[in-house]
Amino acid sequence: MVVAYDRDNIFAKILRGDLPCTKRHETEWAMAFDDIAPKTPVHVLVVPKGEYVDFNDFTARATAEEQAGFWRAVKETAEICGVGEEGFRLTTNNGEVAGQIVFHFHVHIFGGRPLGRMVR
Ligand code: 5GP
Repeated sequence: MVVAYDRDNIFAKILRGDLPCTKRHETEWAMAFDDIAPKTPVHVLVVPKGEYVDFNDFTARATAEEQAGFWRAVKETAEICGVGEEGFRLTTNNGEVAGQIVFHFHVHIFGGRPLGRMVR
């Protein structure tokens, strides 16, 4: 882990209800809300309720129950947002080198239009 967890990061504030969001889904383990600057018609962020900086941190420290609950919430969110059947893209930026700007682990769900191939 490169960065220490900051309890005042934007997603921590959203989880606490200190900042508004357009909520799509919430479970015991995760919350999902629209990205403030959507890149696709469906662009939702799914964040675990626990304090994890990035994917590496989450997979290293979260319990098996937390991890299963989180990924279940990702799948449910795709379904709730209407892209579960037609298809969607999951992305997580792990670290600054990948372009991560909010250091609370999150997964982007992109969909709602043809996304093209990422690697040609
Ligand atoms: P990443 O850290 O994976 O690069 O991206 C963080 C994402 O959070 C960006 O897509 C950005 O648009 C989104 N974001 C930044 N600030 C806010 C905010 O205050 N509310 C919401 N809903 N999304 C945000």
